[in-house]
Amino acid sequence: MKVIFPKYLFYKNKFYPDYGVLIDGDTIADVDSKSNLLDKYPQAERTYLSEQTLLPGTVNAHNHCFQSLLRGIAADRPFLEWRDRSLYYYSPRMSREDIYNGALFAFGEMMKRGVTTVGDFFYLHNFGRESDGAIIQAAKDLGIRLSLNRTMYDWDGAPAGYVESIPQAVENTMYLAEEYKDDPMVNILPSPHSLHAATPEMILKGHEIAKKLNVKFHIHVAEEPFEVEQVKKEHEGLGTLEYLDRLGVVDESMVIIHGVWLSPEEIDLLGEKRGGLVYCPSSNMFLADGITDIPRMIKAGVTVALGSDGGCSNNRISVFEEMRMVSLLQKAKTCDALCVNYEQAFQMGTENGGLLLNFKIGKIEEGYKADFVGVDLEDLSMMPLSESLEQMLPNIVYSMEPTAIRTVIVAGNPTVKDGQLITVSEREISRRVRETMKRLNS
Ligand SMILES: [Zn+2]
Repeated sequence: MKVIFPKYLFYKNKFYPDYGVLIDGDTIADVDSKSNLLDKYPQAERTYLSEQTLLPGTVNAHNHCFQSLLRGIAADRPFLEWRDRSLYYYSPRMSREDIYNGALFAFGEMMKRGVTTVGDFFYLHNFGRESDGAIIQAAKDLGIRLSLNRTMYDWDGAPAGYVESIPQAVENTMYLAEEYKDDPMVNILPSPHSLHAATPEMILKGHEIAKKLNVKFHIHVAEEPFEVEQVKKEHEGLGTLEYLDRLGVVDESMVIIHGVWLSPEEIDLLGEKRGGLVYCPSSNMFLADGITDIPRMIKAGVTVALGSDGGCSNNRISVFEEMRMVSLLQKAKTCDALCVNYEQAFQMGTENGGLLLNFKIGKIEEGYKADFVGVDLEDLSMMPLSESLEQMLPNIVYSMEPTAIRTVIVAGNPTVKDGQLITVSEREISRRVRETMKRLNS
């Protein structure tokens, strides 16, 4: 057992001085005042983070890790040109090792920015399960918690390595789910890609698997108007979510990604059915997708989490960044300063992500996983801070720079110390990225 004593601890939506957290294995076993903890557990190993405030780790609920390798390529181009020149051009060239290097790169960079769990929506399967294995290996080597949102994809207009038949997709997803069912660091969630890249039969299978495994399933919905137009044309004027509801897959197991072009009625329907949304504000801005109606989502009762999306459509990879973006973008759209506040943004980037990825994470409370971020209170971007600490959370969401992130702990194990990755060196990651890009461009 070990105990961490930060300067302040974020507990039940408040910051407490002279508090600590007791960790047993990978789980939080107690949260109490420093004196009580010292009395109760005199033998526990002690760590002092005396200039830091301790927060729950952030959750990046939607990412495509191999896309980090494509950052800066075909930037500022229309969506289809961007897709063809970056994604579709490079994907067929990527070997298992390139995929591993891309995952190490994406996960390493986001972990340094305070991400302790990532939901990776992964579709470059390359005709089997080896590439999925490479992603899981990279997560394990870095020590980040991973939900492999294993994509089910059967539209053959894309690179062949994305595509699987329905029986293959089901077999591979179920195989991995079985293999990792007792691993607290890895979840496998079925993820039919979207209405434009998965057939209705594939989507139904994804939903069926989710029910069987008692987990969520993820699916991109209404990111761009073309998908909405296509569904409308093919299905008697139905909206995308209306059509999915007719298929019978809109319920509490459903997590949609983006949801930019849903009608207000469809948002209400998603809320009534207790569905979730992963919102990727920076990516939606970067790709000129539009602006999801987040205030309506919240009002409808939709659980909203945050994602960076792929590293080549953002192009940063930090959930603190997305907390800032959701609030600022929604304020700009609605001209209402109250529409998304910093407390809501913080909750989206922490505990809501846990809910949508089926992990007990995102809060510093007994029974939750011991995933933390330590923020340096001496960093100028965290100042000023009055005695009442009322600026702490607004500063974390609105002004904090990555330089303030000093400590990251996942499952009780430090992965970032003094702002540096300690599980895999940053130098090693950059060497691997250079090597892979040299190969891909040769
Ligand atoms: Zn995506």
